[in-house]
Amino acid sequence: MGLLDLDKIIIKRTVIGIRCTSCGGNLLTTKRKSIAGRFIKGISLGAIKPAYYECENCKKRFVLL
Ligand SMILES: [Zn+2]
Repeated sequence: MGLLDLDKIIIKRTVIGIRCTSCGGNLLTTKRKSIAGRFIKGISLGAIKPAYYECENCKKRFVLL
């Protein structure tokens, strides 16, 4: 087995159907949590689990409820 090309094995999980509202770029899932998302999760007592996305182009972050 040869060397692995990291660029080829990293698969970006793009969110189909959801586009950045600012630039129209692809949204990628992100583990980083926002304060707003934490707040929503808190007031819903964990019933709502927000999903976090980040724009590939402008790095704008989104929370999907
Ligand atoms: Zn964007």
